[in-house]
Amino acid sequence: MTVGRLTVVCGPMWSGKTTALQRHADRAHRAKRPFVVIRPGCDTRTDHWANHMGTIGPGKPLVHDTESCKRPRVPPGTRLVVIDEGQFFGENDLWRWCEHWTLLGIDVVVGGLDMDAWGVPFEAIAKVAACASVVEKVTAICARCGADATRTKAISGDVEEPCDDGTSRIRLGGPESYEARCRSCWVL
Ligand code: ADP
Ligand code: MG
Ligand code: ZN
Repeated sequence: MTVGRLTVVCGPMWSGKTTALQRHADRAHRAKRPFVVIRPGCDTRTDHWANHMGTIGPGKPLVHDTESCKRPRVPPGTRLVVIDEGQFFGENDLWRWCEHWTLLGIDVVVGGLDMDAWGVPFEAIAKVAACASVVEKVTAICARCGADATRTKAISGDVEEPCDDGTSRIRLGGPESYEARCRSCWVL
């Protein structure tokens, strides 16, 4: 049996990660390849799987508890697993799940933030990217100068520095809290 392909799409906020994942899901949908979309339960920003332009992806996403290190159950016959916001899952869970599925011949596409708003890599994405056959680094547009944005900047006062245990690095927010910035505008 052919081993599945693991693709990771990563970059800052607004870089088109969810849009890229929706395209993979849409192609599977049109090709009648059974697919599963997995979203973290802690991402409560929307009920459905929408990108920043409001486009809703196909299928009913499976919401998985990020506290659980148990691999999400995918139905027999699944050909593609799509995981959005991969940074929310356990750093040693996500890549192991992906290894398991690809060995069963299932293609996997993971989207997620490569770094938090303080420039610290998200371990779950770094590790799953290490296992991937393809890593797509995507960029947004810098809110300051219009160059390619590779980073996310916390702009609101209520987004604190992360604690030592890393908890506050995960703060749900949108344009009121974060901006996409190029590397030079990110330090300003
Ligand atoms: P991600 O999942 O990476 O956060 P989405 O795929 O949900 O991104 O949304 C990407 C869309 O966000 C772009 O196509 C664009 O319409 C919109 N957008 C808003 N702000 C920006 C920005 N600063 N740079 C690029 N796109 C932006
Ligand atoms: Mg997204
Ligand atoms: Zn800039």
